[in-house]
Amino acid sequence: MHTRRSAIKTIAAAALAGPQIFAQDTAPVAVFKLAPLPYDYDALEPHIDAETMKLHHGKHHATYVAKLNEAIAKAPDLAGKPIEEILASLDTSPEAVRTAIRNHGGGHYNHALFWQHLKKGTGGPQGDLLRHIEKTFGSFAKWQELFGDAATKQFGSGWAWLVLRDSKLAVEATANQDTPLSTGATPLLGIDVWEHAYYLKYQNRRADYIKAFQEIINWEFVTDRYKKLTAK
Ligand code: MN
Repeated sequence: MHTRRSAIKTIAAAALAGPQIFAQDTAPVAVFKLAPLPYDYDALEPHIDAETMKLHHGKHHATYVAKLNEAIAKAPDLAGKPIEEILASLDTSPEAVRTAIRNHGGGHYNHALFWQHLKKGTGGPQGDLLRHIEKTFGSFAKWQELFGDAATKQFGSGWAWLVLRDSKLAVEATANQDTPLSTGATPLLGIDVWEHAYYLKYQNRRADYIKAFQEIINWEFVTDRYKKLTAK
């Protein structure tokens, strides 16, 4: 029999149960967060247009972060670990989420680094990094050529990188959102050659985007990153 008293009881029980039901219905706790861009969307114009930056950061990178958090929610052992550590030991992550972490964790890490090393007009590498580039590749211009080639030849979606591998500098490329961290190297900088990184402005002219990219590498950041990674 549905009395007023039982109705009140039902409402009271629902109120008590409410928070738990609500918690199950909400998205998993956001372990990783999308940091704001360290500059305005139009800061890299005309080399990268504001609309591309807005979509790239606010939609593409945001989706990697959201999907990475979904994967981490299914693998609680990984919660609390830095993304670098998770990607460096990808082979030991739970098989059920490994592909998601490879794609979305890689996507998050690669883009978080990418935004930081973009800035107009910082010239070129300095100090020990410049000397190391010259010793390894012959000259800075030769490095630019090799890096451009790696970016041009990466078939389909992926990245080209300047990495530190076994304390040596190397130019490498990875497919999709794979990161050099997963094969034991540390990226100093990378160029995103997914079409979403350049298609609005450059359409199919990837080579033009790659050339323009050389104008917006934040060499102050990269030189500093090199210094920190090699100081021991
Ligand atoms: Mn991208």
